[in-house]
Amino acid sequence: MMKCRICKTDDATKKNSHQLPSFLSVMVSSGGDYKRDKELMFTFDKYRTEVYARGLSSTKWDETFDDLTEERLQQISINPVSEDYVFCPNCEKMLAEFLESPYSMFFKDCKNIDADIPLFFWISVAWRLSVQEKQGFSFGQELNEKLRSLLHRYLLCKENKEDITNLVKEAGVSYRMVRCKDFCRTHAGFIHCRYDEKNEFFSIIVGDLCVCMNFKGDSIPEHFSLYGLEKDIKNAAVNKGVEKEKWIDISVEDYEDMIYRFVRHAARTRIKGLFEIAEEMWRKCNMFGCMPITKKIAFADMVVSQEAKIGDKYLPEIYIQAFKEVTSNPLYN
Ligand SMILES: [Zn+2]
Repeated sequence: MMKCRICKTDDATKKNSHQLPSFLSVMVSSGGDYKRDKELMFTFDKYRTEVYARGLSSTKWDETFDDLTEERLQQISINPVSEDYVFCPNCEKMLAEFLESPYSMFFKDCKNIDADIPLFFWISVAWRLSVQEKQGFSFGQELNEKLRSLLHRYLLCKENKEDITNLVKEAGVSYRMVRCKDFCRTHAGFIHCRYDEKNEFFSIIVGDLCVCMNFKGDSIPEHFSLYGLEKDIKNAAVNKGVEKEKWIDISVEDYEDMIYRFVRHAARTRIKGLFEIAEEMWRKCNMFGCMPITKKIAFADMVVSQEAKIGDKYLPEIYIQAFKEVTSNPLYN
């Protein structure tokens, strides 16, 4: 049995630990009602798109997928932000009791909470995603361990009702936040993380929120950009866990503009990935030289414009089919 990622002493026996707290998770799953029973989530990187779906209405299923095989059904039922056997029951309970419940109450119902809670909540979110390594980034061993230790000591202090002033100071972590309230109720939400290792600067876009954290101070890196939101982030107040959390509210238009820029960036990344996949298939098939660029473009075009339903796009079968087509058809020379 693996040891718990937080305390490193007890056995990690908890199943279904959410690496993204539920009130954030519901923002990035479609449905619009911020409820947990209906979820549809897409995660993607340069090479793959993964789909997670649960409890959708039959119309939504029909819109999203064609007939699913047993194997595909199993694949799409794996929640990308939940993991088994990573925490012990006590740490999981402390996370919920001291960070997630109070922060979600503060967030949803404006309940008054201790000023350190939001800071450690965001530290816990960033650390969990980094350790899980499923969002295309990792802080590296040293920073992961620093954050783990801070989080563990924080939870213990809270449990023993000890003063946490020194721990907040020692953390030296700051963050700024921008919000587009209720955006995901009417639009689709997503999660996207970026990590600037040199400056220890982490940005996360999750549902209605963008949070930018600095793990070694409170400045913003010189060439920082975040799909057009950089100005708002710069104008946002710095949170250090000593005062009530502050953020800037931005308009739906500005948030949509950010998403538009993000999609353009993601599309460029995806095309690069598709070119690499095509090249790799070319090599594996022992074809002569490099794959001609015209064929690569035809391949990417075919994959992207494939008339599959959204949940069925980017499956390996589609890559193979497109590759066969462009290599056998003399039209693509
Ligand atoms: Zn533990």
